[in-house]
Amino acid sequence: MTHNSQPILELKGVKTYFSTTKGVVKAVDDISFSIYHGEIVGLVGESGCGKSMTSLSIMGLVPQPAGKTVAGQILFHGEDLLKKSYEQMRQIRGNKISMILQDPMVSLNQILSVEYQIGEVFRFHDKPILKSLREMCIQVLKKVKVPSPELRVRDYPFQFSGGMCQRTIIGMGVANGPDLLIADEPTTALDVTIQAQVLQLMKQVQQETDAAILMITHDLGTVAQLCSRVMVMYAGRIVEKAPVQTFYKNPSHPYAIGLIKSVPVLGRKSKRLYSIKGQPPNLLDPPLGCRFAPRCEQAMPICREAYPPEITLENEHQVSCWLFAEKGGV
Ligand code: SF4
Repeated sequence: MTHNSQPILELKGVKTYFSTTKGVVKAVDDISFSIYHGEIVGLVGESGCGKSMTSLSIMGLVPQPAGKTVAGQILFHGEDLLKKSYEQMRQIRGNKISMILQDPMVSLNQILSVEYQIGEVFRFHDKPILKSLREMCIQVLKKVKVPSPELRVRDYPFQFSGGMCQRTIIGMGVANGPDLLIADEPTTALDVTIQAQVLQLMKQVQQETDAAILMITHDLGTVAQLCSRVMVMYAGRIVEKAPVQTFYKNPSHPYAIGLIKSVPVLGRKSKRLYSIKGQPPNLLDPPLGCRFAPRCEQAMPICREAYPPEITLENEHQVSCWLFAEKGGV
């Protein structure tokens, strides 16, 4: 896959650390990647691997004062978001970059009407009010297929189902025509049938708006269904990047292979589901060398001594693993 345009978003060597009484937690530790116009890119990994902190770093919402992005660049349309003022970031968030969070019942304020909350997206960014604000809110609900939007717009979130709330959040996310949508586990809190509908809706909305989407998930099924590229994160670092088809055909990093093997498959004959042994490392004191080494069945002495370089296996397929450096990749 080749990209003719400049990336919308480019992270270069980003590090987000937390100062705690026990030491410095390296939640995001030197990650780099790009996202291009109109593509959906998946960021996968176990809980606590730094996926959400990556998204909060992009949005400038790392919890302070403990957390801080201490190094790197986050270039959005070529401009470094880390150099923007608080007010400049407020104008970008919800306008040029939007975020969809995990739990729709928490994302919406239960005691403010749906109309008020959708309307705030337009009011806050001083968007011209065409027709009436109510009509604009109804259009948002229509776009994300909330039934009877003319009636439901006056409801409160507690009168909506979880799926309707998440549809509303997606509608609010794309209301101002963002260039980038960050979806952080957008279907985790929903039941399976609603998950499928919401994913379908996201795909449709992306095609209509042509926004790029960074899809943060631990679900490889979601990645296969929705994304064109995938990045696998482990213990604060990206260990493999690839186009989705390449990734499923030829997963290369032992952690990525373990993740794929852990997915339950209907009709699989083996009795026990595969699981990766052990736990992710404590990011207060990550192992020297490859952070996956304590759990890796193929670990070699060098793996415990130095962090592996990023090796390019083929077009857009990169892996950080000594197995490939040893085999002479690059
Ligand atoms: Fe395993 Fe070594 Fe590769 Fe890390 S670098 S994944 S320990 S083989």
